[in-house]
Amino acid sequence: MNTFSIAIHGGAGTLVKGLMTPELEAEYKLALKIARDKGYEVLERGGSALDAVEVAVKLLENSPLFNAGKGSVFTNEGTHEMDASIMEGKTLEAGAVSLITGIKNPVSLARDVMEKSYHVFLAGDGAMKFAKGLGYKLESPEYFYDEVRYKQWQGIKDSDNFQLDHSVKKDGKFGTVGAVACDQFGNIAAATSTGGMTNKKWGRVGDSPMVGAGVYANNKTCAVSCTGSGEFFIRGVVAYDVSCLMEHKGLSLKDASNEVIHKRILDIKGDGGLIAVDAKGNIAMPFNTEGMYRAFKTSKGEEDIFIYKD
Ligand code: ASP
Repeated sequence: MNTFSIAIHGGAGTLVKGLMTPELEAEYKLALKIARDKGYEVLERGGSALDAVEVAVKLLENSPLFNAGKGSVFTNEGTHEMDASIMEGKTLEAGAVSLITGIKNPVSLARDVMEKSYHVFLAGDGAMKFAKGLGYKLESPEYFYDEVRYKQWQGIKDSDNFQLDHSVKKDGKFGTVGAVACDQFGNIAAATSTGGMTNKKWGRVGDSPMVGAGVYANNKTCAVSCTGSGEFFIRGVVAYDVSCLMEHKGLSLKDASNEVIHKRILDIKGDGGLIAVDAKGNIAMPFNTEGMYRAFKTSKGEEDIFIYKD
């Protein structure tokens, strides 16, 4: 049987160890553990990598601790506009949504775009019409409200600034979520979901829903989910770049991921990180920020949950 494995992230950014309380740290680790373990259970039962990443990301979206689904950041207009994507490495099929509102689990809508439409990427009002056609129920704005996110927005709402929810040093809360998995059959998949950046406007869309930038999966190489300053990750075509280094330069998963996060994206001043798996169940989780919420588990009995570099 193929080694199976899952890795998840809850965002990368400027985390200052001293400002995190032990209680909050325990809360984050518990949320990561639950999402990771539920995703792993899917793999253990012989389920697909695609199902595993959707299950894990939905749980992270349901937690107010992360900037995705419930707990998404505020836009310049005081609303929540969410982006999500999912991709399957066996078929190279993908689905993505952006600028959606009121949807509890954007990752599931992305999967529906992949499986129930002829398209890959639906945005804004059109994506909402698609969701309504499938019978999605809309949550009220209160469902997505989170006090920390609200205060972050209040701090910059009258400016032209927009920021990563995790870029303010005093802030203990962040970030975009994602999962990558390799199943017992050697199939891999990736998913990413986010509320984007605080105070974003003009229909700003980051890397998270963009195939090749914030998400990518190909059984021949790797499955990748990114987090960080989306503008840089789009320009660096980060997720696909990891795959290209493996495919065209013969780099290992670890070397390709490190090259992109510690060199190529840094060269254009991008900050963030990624999680990646290959079809043998290997995992890489590099980041060039102070921390990245992350966790993994493999069928070889390895598992861990981290926040900082240790
Ligand atoms: N990459 C996301 C975006 O730019 C933000 C994040 O990872 O926290 O929308």
